[in-house]
Amino acid sequence: MTEYPSCEKIAEISIEKFTNLIKNIENDVEQWSILSTIIEYNQKSKECKVVALGTGTKCIGVDKMCPNGTILNDSHAEIICRRSFLRYIYSEMLKNNEIFQFDKTKCYFSLNPDITYHFFSTHPPCGDATITENNDEAVASKKTKLDSDYVCTGAKILGIIKGYNSITGEKNDPLNQEEGALRTKPGRGVRTLSMSCSDKLSKWNILGVQGALLDLLLKDPIYFKTLNFCYEIHVMESIKRAIYNRWKIKKFINDRYILQEPDIRINCDTIFYLTKLDDKKPSPRSIAWCNTPENEKPLENAINGKKQGITKKALEKSPLCGVLQISKFMLSKKFIEVVNHYPTIKDKILRKIGESKLQLSYKELKILSECYQNAWNSLKTDFFGSWTEKPEDLLNFKVKL
Ligand SMILES: [Zn+2]
Repeated sequence: MTEYPSCEKIAEISIEKFTNLIKNIENDVEQWSILSTIIEYNQKSKECKVVALGTGTKCIGVDKMCPNGTILNDSHAEIICRRSFLRYIYSEMLKNNEIFQFDKTKCYFSLNPDITYHFFSTHPPCGDATITENNDEAVASKKTKLDSDYVCTGAKILGIIKGYNSITGEKNDPLNQEEGALRTKPGRGVRTLSMSCSDKLSKWNILGVQGALLDLLLKDPIYFKTLNFCYEIHVMESIKRAIYNRWKIKKFINDRYILQEPDIRINCDTIFYLTKLDDKKPSPRSIAWCNTPENEKPLENAINGKKQGITKKALEKSPLCGVLQISKFMLSKKFIEVVNHYPTIKDKILRKIGESKLQLSYKELKILSECYQNAWNSLKTDFFGSWTEKPEDLLNFKVKL
């Protein structure tokens, strides 16, 4: 059996990376945040490093969603981190190095078999993983003050829950605490269309973390081998349920995508210094970073789904000046860059759409990934029935090929 780096080691290098990144950023210690990272481990060289990192606690309401793909809807740490990971993969593909090797004849990239990926977070993912039966009073007293912007573990014990929308069972009943239910994220008064991090992580645990566009370029989907958390041990069962146990009673048969059972590990000794405490407010800011060269500006500071510090006036003048590299818009541009870099991929896609040149919408691009879409449609029927659909016009922005 392969030995992976320990949960302690993963927590240590993740927090160290974060500390180094924020050295020069004004940081309000009065606010709490969540840190998520993705670790790349090379079994041969034993090298273990952070390749993607995200922090954040916010999610924009349906009223603020943007039709150009330039504003992030969901700025929870896990999601920012995953988007940063996609950015990292595109950057590696453009290098065609030893991590993602391009096979010209088969026209796909395969991941070096010595490499595995591991997920880390300083908090269990919001949604199902935070619904726990635990009755420990100490835990309850620690978590007595619930934040309207974020749902914490212990909600069930207290018998109250705020801003939390379960979308199975009683429709959008904030008091619905059915275990295993799908949920949308809370927003500031306005409803959001973003699914909880528990739901998104469990989707990645079946379809892979790479998403539809990268799936077109990869030999196999990418799954996390271990999920690591710094938290209290009692959340172990609810995390397992949220990630895979709730789906084990159902059947999903597919050649390419398989429900995974990653090792879930909890380290109760490491304390993240921005951890959620009763007297702190959630930080409205996010940082996104991935392991790309300095000249590609790997670190981004964000607020409200766009770059921090961009004035309204500047945005009106040039709408793209606030766009993050990890936005839908910029990531799909990266996808096109990879396609253009490898003529065999480009030919294959052009043949598929039967044109010599085309401007595709983001939605049309995603539809090209047939295996992924077919599997996702079948999962939506049997597993993720109440997954929210984004309005059509939010996916119609064009990307040049
Ligand atoms: Zn979340």
